[in-house]
Amino acid sequence: MSKLQMLLEKSNVVIADGAMGTMLQAVGLAGEAPALWNVEHPERVRAVHRAYLEVGTRLPIANTFTASRFHLSKHGAAERVAELNRAGVALLRDEVQAAGVDAVIAADMGPSGELLAPLGALAFDDAVAGFEEQARALIDGGVDVIWIETMSDLEEVRAIIEGVRRVSKDIPILASMTFDTRGRTMMGVKPETAARSLLEWGAVAIGGNCGNGPEEILAVIQKMRAVAPNAILIAKSNAGKPEMVDGKTIFPATPEVMAQSARALRDAGARIIGGCCGTTPAHIRAMAEAVGR
Ligand SMILES: [Zn+2]
Repeated sequence: MSKLQMLLEKSNVVIADGAMGTMLQAVGLAGEAPALWNVEHPERVRAVHRAYLEVGTRLPIANTFTASRFHLSKHGAAERVAELNRAGVALLRDEVQAAGVDAVIAADMGPSGELLAPLGALAFDDAVAGFEEQARALIDGGVDVIWIETMSDLEEVRAIIEGVRRVSKDIPILASMTFDTRGRTMMGVKPETAARSLLEWGAVAIGGNCGNGPEEILAVIQKMRAVAPNAILIAKSNAGKPEMVDGKTIFPATPEVMAQSARALRDAGARIIGGCCGTTPAHIRAMAEAVGR
């Protein structure tokens, strides 16, 4: 049995991570590749992990979202994929060990930021190779599970899964997509379609993350549940619908709102509940308390 399965056996709801990106922005990240901070400001990344572990996160995610060569090449760091991903996993592992908690260590993988052919210029095989490179660093670094998130294009999810499977036949893969465009992903994928495909491709848990806040994610969970009643469902919503105020992005949902949402998500069948952009340790604490950890 995998560590993730053991965690799921122990509790009806596993508390996942809150946001990393917006937390790092709050302490100065501006325009750099977030994964560079795994080496340049490791203490700031560790502080975020520590804060979430303290309030109940048991499925924390390493700071490796967008740490593929597709993004790093835009920051002159295409040759640092292995270094930055391994560093991200090591920071999280150290922090989990220091906290002395029983947590499953996840590594984050996300979209390339490019469109796959034939819509765009990125060939499927090149996408697979780039994701394989990132997955190799993460798996060599010792992660327990791979978490693919904030996805819009199902084909790109398939490319990531294929990249991961070239490195490991059995590491558990979680996959969540962002249904922020009238109930579909930006690329038009419906939750029901996503659920069927992701399960068929072997994801052990599926769901929604990011987007326009808790109500949107609740609808995703309900739709996925309807077509995949036995699936382990992930709900990781932003802290409300992002608003622009004085040129800054604000996430309006309070910890209380997210706590209420966590209860509703649990009642709708979500088993892995966390937060995406705009959530903080205060949000995760309130959510963990609401669902009884
Ligand atoms: Zn987000």
